[in-house]
Amino acid sequence: MKHYSYEQWTKYVKNELDGEDKILYEDHLYTCDQCLEVYLTAIEAEELPDIIDGTAFTDNIMAQLPNENNKQDTKNENFSRKATAFYKKTIFHYGIAAAMTLILMSTGFFQTLTQYAGDVESKQFKEDKASITEGIMDKTFAWMDTKKEEDKK
Ligand SMILES: [Zn+2]
Repeated sequence: MKHYSYEQWTKYVKNELDGEDKILYEDHLYTCDQCLEVYLTAIEAEELPDIIDGTAFTDNIMAQLPNENNKQDTKNENFSRKATAFYKKTIFHYGIAAAMTLILMSTGFFQTLTQYAGDVESKQFKEDKASITEGIMDKTFAWMDTKKEEDKK
């Protein structure tokens, strides 16, 4: 299987790929846990600075609110447009990430079920083993009792 590099996933996150490549990347993502991890790292690395930028931008606007009302209107418009674009982009990527998590979770869920069944089985086994041990102990005590009786004689 051909894997994609971190740089390539960054391009994907930044939406710098053409349509055909994008489909190839997406298809690969559905089948490759390794690349999914790289992809999620790329999202974190690429999206977080945007959030920080956005916060700085808001602070900037807030600081200008009292004295420059006219300028603030245009800036606010820019900000909301930027925020919407960012929001859409993030929702798209997190949507994919969420779907992946769901798939992984459902796989994990079935694994847990199997493990649960295994636990029940081994518990049963332990109980059997315990009764065997108990039996051996009973026999040992019985033997010790007879031995004591013998010693008395
Ligand atoms: Zn891969």
